[in-house]
Amino acid sequence: MHVVELIERKRDGEELEPGELGELVLEYARGRVPNEQMAAFLMAVYFRGLSCAETYELTDAMVASGSTVDLSSIDRVVVDKHSTGGVGDKVSIALGPVVAACGVPFAKMSGRGLGHTGGTLDKLESIPGFCTDLSADELLALVKEVGLAIVGQTDSLVPADRLIYELRDVTGTVPHVALIAASVMSKKLAAGADAILLDIKVGEGAFMRTLDEARTLAETMVDLADRAGRRVVCDLTAMDQPLGHAVGNALEVREAVGVLQGSGPPDVTELVLRSASTLLALSDLGVDETSARELAEQAVATGAALRAYTRWVTAQGGDPDETVLPQAPVTAVLHAPASGFVASLSALGVGRVASCLGAGRERSGEPVDHAAGVVCLTKRGDRVETGQPLAEAHGRDERTVSAALDRLASCFTIAAEVPPRTHLVLDVIR
Ligand code: URA
Repeated sequence: MHVVELIERKRDGEELEPGELGELVLEYARGRVPNEQMAAFLMAVYFRGLSCAETYELTDAMVASGSTVDLSSIDRVVVDKHSTGGVGDKVSIALGPVVAACGVPFAKMSGRGLGHTGGTLDKLESIPGFCTDLSADELLALVKEVGLAIVGQTDSLVPADRLIYELRDVTGTVPHVALIAASVMSKKLAAGADAILLDIKVGEGAFMRTLDEARTLAETMVDLADRAGRRVVCDLTAMDQPLGHAVGNALEVREAVGVLQGSGPPDVTELVLRSASTLLALSDLGVDETSARELAEQAVATGAALRAYTRWVTAQGGDPDETVLPQAPVTAVLHAPASGFVASLSALGVGRVASCLGAGRERSGEPVDHAAGVVCLTKRGDRVETGQPLAEAHGRDERTVSAALDRLASCFTIAAEVPPRTHLVLDVIR
């Protein structure tokens, strides 16, 4: 293999021959291609793109670079769900128990938060005792025993993606549809589930800023799943304001439990029930989405989903009692400066404020403050009066919280007119 020649051919817009891209990726993962050559290749891809066949070959090579999880001994259709990352997205924490309560095995390997978006692992680790550092065998045992497990991605899974992602991160080559699709799908394929719901967030607070970009990403990921013999449905959902009220780890767990108790915010509840319907309809239960929705609603109404949550959290070593979740020592309230309607509430802004309060991290490996975050007491379209509480900041000390409150103020726009109604689910690609 002549790496320089591959770089030059991609730079000049050629499609590589079958096998060439796969070999390059595997050789890079083995340490036999230096970072500067891989960086140049990624930049060539960034400008010239990859064909469908090349994108599949990249995905396949990333899967082949490490171990994979074999869930076949469960002898059922196992489902999984992935979100491309948003602000206040606690859906998986409530969705897993709803799906498990309906008798469908749910196995998820998850990531940590970076920048303004939160990660499911950090949220779950705010539950005292909850362990996410489990092996693939332990994941399998939990799914067999309690029907549900959410664990951290093991180091042996898709090592090529980890190396390439680190390089993309420092070479300005993250935001490319084929590279994102291959990165996400390699992890999902290696994690073993048969049917996967992908929630592609669209808007100011997400990777995909426009609906067109998100559609292209969804179509690419559905194509990758088809080629790999897995079933994928992509929901394209709005991320122009935070999902629900809570943004921050323990705050979000509390809100997810609220959904299971039937008292969650309408947008989170809708996304949880809708996602559950999609996964149940993809499973081996033999139900369509309408019956699946009824099953999911019953699981919440009868308390079965809450019981599944308790069993799951306990099985992963956590204490399911909400009152033991950490609480920040300092809380302050942002008041409305004028009467009117909340015209906009910036997801990106709130995510950044929550991160500054300690809920997120700028570099991988940094610790997070599980108690910190923001609660948006009002959302877009709400009528507010001067002085009414708009949001709360939760943090470790007065100085941090007061600085956060100033920044939080700029996340809200209050206007005299009711803002136009927007939709939570923007499209579905299957
Ligand atoms: N998330 C991933 O896992 N990979 C990307 O490339 C982008 C987002």
